[in-house]
Amino acid sequence: MTILVTGIGELVTNDPTVADGPLGVIPDAALVVDDGIVVWVGPATGAPDADDRVDVGGRAVVPGFVDSHAHLVFAGDRAAEFEARMSGARYDGGGIGTTVAATRGATDAELRARLAGLIAEMRRQGTTTVEVKSGYGLTVEDEARCLRLAAEVTTETTFLGAHVVPAEYAGRADEYVALVTGPMLDACAPHTRWVDVFCEPRSAHAFDGDQARAVLEAGRDAGLGLRVHANQLSAGPGVRLAVELGAASADHCTHLTADDVDALAGGTTVATLLPGVEFSTRSPYPDARRLLDAGVTVALATDCNPGSCFTSSMAFCIALAVREMRMTPAEALWCATAGGAAALRRPDVGHLAPGARADLAVLDAPSFRHLAYRPGVPLVHALDLPI
Ligand SMILES: [Zn+2]
Repeated sequence: MTILVTGIGELVTNDPTVADGPLGVIPDAALVVDDGIVVWVGPATGAPDADDRVDVGGRAVVPGFVDSHAHLVFAGDRAAEFEARMSGARYDGGGIGTTVAATRGATDAELRARLAGLIAEMRRQGTTTVEVKSGYGLTVEDEARCLRLAAEVTTETTFLGAHVVPAEYAGRADEYVALVTGPMLDACAPHTRWVDVFCEPRSAHAFDGDQARAVLEAGRDAGLGLRVHANQLSAGPGVRLAVELGAASADHCTHLTADDVDALAGGTTVATLLPGVEFSTRSPYPDARRLLDAGVTVALATDCNPGSCFTSSMAFCIALAVREMRMTPAEALWCATAGGAAALRRPDVGHLAPGARADLAVLDAPSFRHLAYRPGVPLVHALDLPI
């Protein structure tokens, strides 16, 4: 069945071949969907007939957000840690152990209900593709369990057994890495597309460059794509390791050297910025302008997790990117859609050209600029089309 979506005051296609600029914006537009796939876009005056019709009443339509970095399988919350941080406590990743204990103690039903609630919360805010990491189980059984649950809600699952060294392995990080790259990887590989590691040599809880390399190479040998938590708390080897190994994404990129920027500009690795983390840990933001001006492909994502950043709102991240990282509203929207798709190597999402998935987000506003112009206002939601 074909559906004509019409009454679109402004359509962002992210297809520069249909209109000027990287966003490919068409005013007074229409779009035809056939069986969940976009088959036509253009000015409403030239729209073909369809079996059904949805009129969005002059609103702006953008590609659904692609949130390429989220940690949604967990139990408990860390509101008290947030409160302490706002009173001056520093974030160093140590609180992750609190969530690990709660997650290990939760039933499948409890984890599944929390996960479903967060996915629904995201969709209500315009997110139509989300990556979900493990990383709060940190045993063979619990990591595999978290990934099985994640695979129920997304194809973009990521094995993050190397999130932190769990308390029972304190002082024995290399032994833990052997577990992650051996039995844990074997148990998790059937349920995951990606492998990830928190590379942060100066953290007492995370992994150094050699350990991160071991995790990534083992994942690659098991057929997984690579992602890296890199250069969040200090400059380190994470970004260059990600580029060297051809990782799809280096995430955080808060503390970069000139060599890191050059490596990203010369490679195929997307730099995924997570400004909600800097907001929620009261830390300096990444230098997005430096990356964009160097020609690096940049994505924006939430990093939704119970510790360092518990927002599920991509619109909030867009507002932060514009206000705090000096992206233009157009750049920020591109990074939150096409950029996220690039970070997940998904050519079928993040844009609205013929052949793409019909993942539409509707704004109760005339222009995409309102995403940053009206921070904190619930303007955007994913559009449910009749089936
Ligand atoms: Zn993360």
